[in-house]
Amino acid sequence: MARGKQKEQSREKAQKAAAARKGGKSQIQFRQQGLQSICPICKTPNPNYKTMVLHMEAKHPGKPIPPESTA
Ligand SMILES: [Zn+2]
Repeated sequence: MARGKQKEQSREKAQKAAAARKGGKSQIQFRQQGLQSICPICKTPNPNYKTMVLHMEAKHPGKPIPPESTA
């Protein structure tokens, strides 16, 4: 008897958890915040071109830095 109710409760819990996941931060939102400049060498996303240049200078010294329009 108690078992059936428990099952129902756990299902409800799972549904709530799924809803919470849906309402959470999505990857699309994350992208919209802007990680636009991806390092062409190691593919690390950077929030902007300037940061990407700094990353290039720090992580890949001597590598050609791409122009802003292509970053
Ligand atoms: Zn890199």
